[in-house]
Amino acid sequence: MTFSAVDVITAKREGAELSDEQITWVLDAYQRGEVADEQMSALLMAIFFCGMQSRELRTWTDRMIASGETLDLRGLSRPSVDKHSTGGVGDKISLILAPLVAACGACVPQLSGRGLGHTGGTLDKLDSIPGWRAALSNDEMRAQLESVGAVICAAGAGLAPVDRRLYALRDVTGTVESIPLISSSIMSKKIAEGTQALVLDVKVGRGAFIKTIERARELASTMVTLGEDHGVSTVAQLTAMDQPLGRAVGNALEVIESLEVLRGGGPIDVRELTLALASTMLDLVGIDVDPREKLDDGSAYDVYRSMIMAQGGDPDAVLVPARVHEVVTADTSGYVTSVDALCVGIAAWRLGAGRARKEDPVSAGAGVMCLVREGDRIAIGEPLFELYADDGEHLARGRETIRDAVAIGEEQPEAATILLEKITR
Ligand code: URA
Repeated sequence: MTFSAVDVITAKREGAELSDEQITWVLDAYQRGEVADEQMSALLMAIFFCGMQSRELRTWTDRMIASGETLDLRGLSRPSVDKHSTGGVGDKISLILAPLVAACGACVPQLSGRGLGHTGGTLDKLDSIPGWRAALSNDEMRAQLESVGAVICAAGAGLAPVDRRLYALRDVTGTVESIPLISSSIMSKKIAEGTQALVLDVKVGRGAFIKTIERARELASTMVTLGEDHGVSTVAQLTAMDQPLGRAVGNALEVIESLEVLRGGGPIDVRELTLALASTMLDLVGIDVDPREKLDDGSAYDVYRSMIMAQGGDPDAVLVPARVHEVVTADTSGYVTSVDALCVGIAAWRLGAGRARKEDPVSAGAGVMCLVREGDRIAIGEPLFELYADDGEHLARGRETIRDAVAIGEEQPEAATILLEKITR
């Protein structure tokens, strides 16, 4: 069936529900090059303002999945379960979680991306390990899932390829922050990846792109419904992202911190969030093993080593922070009332840890170590942050931003909780 792009755009602009045939046509025709970028931009803006009913969103997501290949992970000897985070500052959880859940008996196919803007990408972090390779073929990925149980690799261009084009358009047309568009973008890739179960870590707060709990609930329940409707057991955990997760923000710095957690130490918030997400993942696939034991007895660390070696990396390589270094100290005494994750993320990015355009290189060793957390008592002159950069110019850019990242007051703030709410169907 053929439609006119202008009719589809005006129907959505007037708040009508699009039929399954209209949605199928418009996405397929866009992929064939018969609907122009400017027409798709107008449709995305109409969806941004008018939203989509659940039937429309399900069909839209189906067509995004059908635009490329789908992987089939049935037939592996273990159940598959993945985690997706909507992006936070210092979020290195995947590096610990994937091997941990594999050590408990599931397999974890983490097809990840690179970072853009103030939140880092998992692949950029692992790229700081000498020899490590992000690009795997589908056969290599399956073989590694069978032999090691965990893979973190680049999502191939074949998964939901229309999303790549839609996302690039949304990026330049102010249509990223739409719940149906975000949900279909994330879930089409996760469903196409073939995982049986999925835990979504939906970040809320200053350092997340969702700032309020109400929006986070809406996004989470929309994604959970899409997953369940496509036969993927899906649960969302809303988590606070007001201050950075752990102390390290930056690629190699975060790998070093992840290794501390895998060896039984590390910051308590990173450890506790990893364990909570691991328990939810294991519940979804019916595995009754306590992840705490597998973290503490070194099993997760052993799987991490195998996972890195299977992709050509040297797990014993000594990773070092960038050589230009500065300590930022407190200019007043009191309680730390906030450590602003967004500010720290932007500082790390300006120090060289992140990229502004997707083709930019990133520095492995640049970043920020946060030496204080909300609620700490601090005296004038005590260290707040360590900054790392490859040269003085980047260091100066990071220094400008980090000054606004901390607030110190007279009253001790209430202890912050990370785990906010769990959303199931
Ligand atoms: N991540 C995605 O993959 N898509 C979005 O729309 C937002 C975040």
